[in-house]
Amino acid sequence: MNISDTSIPPLSQTWKRMLQAAGQEAGALKRSTALTLAAAVAQGLAFACFYPFFSALLDTPARPGSAVFWLTAMTLCTLADALARWVARRFDYSESFATITHDLRMSLGRQLRNMPLETLYRKRSGELASVLAGSVDEVIMPMGMFSAAFINIMVTPMVAALATFFVDWRLAVCMLLIFPLSIPLYRRRRRATGRGMREVSAAHARIQAELVEYIQGLPVLRAANRTGEREERLSGALEHLRQIQRQDILAGVRPQLSISAFIQGGLLAIAGLALHFVLGGSLHPAALAALLVIMVRFTEPITLLFSISAVFDLMEAGFARVEETLSIAPLPVSEPAGTPTAFDVSFEDVRFAYAESGEVVLDGVSFTAPERSLTALVGPSGAGKTTVTRLLMRYADPQAGVIRIGGMDIRGMRPETLMGCVSVVFQDVYLFDDTIAANIRMGRQNATDEEVRAVAEAAHCHEFISRLPQGYETRVGDIGGRLSGGERQRISIARAILKNAPIVILDEPTAALDTESEVAVQRAVDALVRERTVFVIAHRLSTIAAADNILVFDRGRLVEQGRHAALLNAGGRYQAMWEAQNRAKEWHLGRMTEGAHA
Ligand code: ADP
Repeated sequence: MNISDTSIPPLSQTWKRMLQAAGQEAGALKRSTALTLAAAVAQGLAFACFYPFFSALLDTPARPGSAVFWLTAMTLCTLADALARWVARRFDYSESFATITHDLRMSLGRQLRNMPLETLYRKRSGELASVLAGSVDEVIMPMGMFSAAFINIMVTPMVAALATFFVDWRLAVCMLLIFPLSIPLYRRRRRATGRGMREVSAAHARIQAELVEYIQGLPVLRAANRTGEREERLSGALEHLRQIQRQDILAGVRPQLSISAFIQGGLLAIAGLALHFVLGGSLHPAALAALLVIMVRFTEPITLLFSISAVFDLMEAGFARVEETLSIAPLPVSEPAGTPTAFDVSFEDVRFAYAESGEVVLDGVSFTAPERSLTALVGPSGAGKTTVTRLLMRYADPQAGVIRIGGMDIRGMRPETLMGCVSVVFQDVYLFDDTIAANIRMGRQNATDEEVRAVAEAAHCHEFISRLPQGYETRVGDIGGRLSGGERQRISIARAILKNAPIVILDEPTAALDTESEVAVQRAVDALVRERTVFVIAHRLSTIAAADNILVFDRGRLVEQGRHAALLNAGGRYQAMWEAQNRAKEWHLGRMTEGAHA
């Protein structure tokens, strides 16, 4: 639903969405709602008993027997009301709420795991968090209110008004008319709040996103002494919310006041009319007394009903966000899904544009990487090297062309199969707040302690891990910044060695590492890439010179490929890059022109 949409979702839709969200607890929700309905009817009947009760009391002579009878009836109805309500409450207070909330969060969590990576990265993490945390509550919490407040306030006065038919049809018609006549007012109010709630919900999500990014970026901002800039964005988001909330409240005030005035005035008019009938002799004073009791009791709650209708808008806004997240389909796997048996990689005429910008960033890219070969990707920053490696992991599907592993289209592999084939070592290593051993074990959950140690040795991290306070059991959070960039790199390489995937993607670290670290990381890399099909986003001459094939990218095109020596003699782009670099006495082919990737 569009934010500025002014249509009012019918209550039946809210109800259907509630049942859907309730999942396996839908039965409990239905039962609870039916019981609340019964309770409201019983309460209405209890009020209806006022008519005969007062009439027995005020008749001349009074009829005490009859009065006691109606008083008993009223008591029984009230008891039935309380009992039904009490049983209905089981829905709120029993485990149902907790179960529904939990189930919904779990399915949203599953959704995050299966969502195409491109979509996942495009969504801001704070916004996704706000769907999982905030929107779920917005949807689930008011469910109890729906039955408790809404049904109660609607149904009880209606039953009482219907009972008035037995006393005086003219008054009954007037009372019942209040409901349909107030509908346009109700619609006006919901039009005002519906849009407001969607805006508030979107603004909340934006604040969460800004907040997460602000906190994550704080160390960098502090170091650069630029905390003010991001703070402005955050306070901008907060100000935006304030304005929306203000508008929202203002927009709701007038319809709310007119509704109150209409209902209060309407009921007063009915009371005046009833008085007129009494004076004219066509209505028993007892009926007037009963009518006054009933009306005094109902004016307030009916008015309230219209203000709580905003809750439905909050729910609808929450539902819309939850459903939007749930509706993102994972990338399809063409059946029958297969598992590759060979691990050569080929790109065939691949064209790709990121959904966000729509600009073609890879165009007509074709190459083959034989099994157990080393392919270096070089070219200026922004040329498309990272995108090539992302597509191999099926970050998104190319708009044209095919990517194959062992001759098999990767779109015909289940995500687990594909991910099992590929290990990645990024420049930015993410370590989870867990023990070092657990972080290495991310590569393969069931690895034994000996295996973890063996890969740590191979990746040249055993020595520094042994020096940590609790060795492999040291928690990453406890030592925090004490791990150097090179050490983190080696832990992630150990992970990849443990995973033992036949294809390895490596984003070679550049100047970030000091020489000693660089040597250790290089040794670790050597251990990792042995006997595998390797792709390196390469910066070092040694890597590039040793590559079986060098892919030279420029502005999304694969402009040259071949071995170092052959490319140097070809007199093309590679040679030009090499010469430019040679003049600068630096060997960072990846940073050739813009000098990025630092
Ligand atoms: P390289 O790794 O060679 O530096 P990339 O593959 O990262 O280049 O980027 C290729 C082009 O794609 C660049 O123009 C970059 O701005 C763009 N790009 C990269 N990531 C995204 C993204 N998530 N959304 C939109 N455009 C992107």
